Amino acid sequence: MRKTMKKEEIKKQIEAWVREFKKASPETILNFFLDHYGKEIAFASSLGAEDQVITHMLAAISRDARIFTLDTGRLFPETCEVLEKTRKKYGLEIEVYFPDYREVEKMVRERGINLFYRSVENRKLCCHIRKTLPLLRALEGCRAWITGLRREQAVTRISVMPVEWDEKHEIVKVNPLFGWSEKQVWDYIREHDIPYNALHDRGFPSIGCQPCTRAVQPGEDVRAGRWWWEQPENRECGLHPGKKENGKI
Ligand code: SF4
Repeated sequence: MRKTMKKEEIKKQIEAWVREFKKASPETILNFFLDHYGKEIAFASSLGAEDQVITHMLAAISRDARIFTLDTGRLFPETCEVLEKTRKKYGLEIEVYFPDYREVEKMVRERGINLFYRSVENRKLCCHIRKTLPLLRALEGCRAWITGLRREQAVTRISVMPVEWDEKHEIVKVNPLFGWSEKQVWDYIREHDIPYNALHDRGFPSIGCQPCTRAVQPGEDVRAGRWWWEQPENRECGLHPGKKENGKI
């Protein structure tokens, strides 16, 4: 009961923050929440374009901000490359979380190495083991996390707010770039000479695991190359459930 009430209080607070930060700059949002949550907030970077923008901003705001990424074991070599470049450029510690090898071995033994192409259930299991469970470990002890979500990215993300209650992880989710356009992201990257994944120049606007990401055609949705064999409303990995699954305020 106490926990429920506490959650309701947080949701009320979030409503006030949404009003306060609806027109704020990403830096203002980051500054506020880093200060507010201290060591109990972490930035989850997938090393994509938006996340590189946030890393750049964080490096200027606080050297102590926690940044982590998930290595699923199926990443593109180019993604590992951008991780190395980022560590070198900013001198930041980026925590890398891996899946539990026992879970991966069991899944591959039972369903095959490329199980994800055969059903949504298989794909979700793979994302659960390689992404969701490591994310839970990374978020242990956090009261909030920071993401690079933008409204324009997908039909599943059109209602993203600057700050939300993350029902799935039961913590606050902060999305400083929620209202940015793709152009704003790239203008910022170029202006500040931020390292980015070389695949972005080869038609990959959104980059996940190698077997589940392909280049998109000009004019296609930015996430059309992710799990392209599935329906658009299924194309989330469980880290950021779409509106139907996630009870946002
Ligand atoms: S994106 Fe593909 S390879 Fe990566 S965890 Fe999900 S299903 Fe597995």
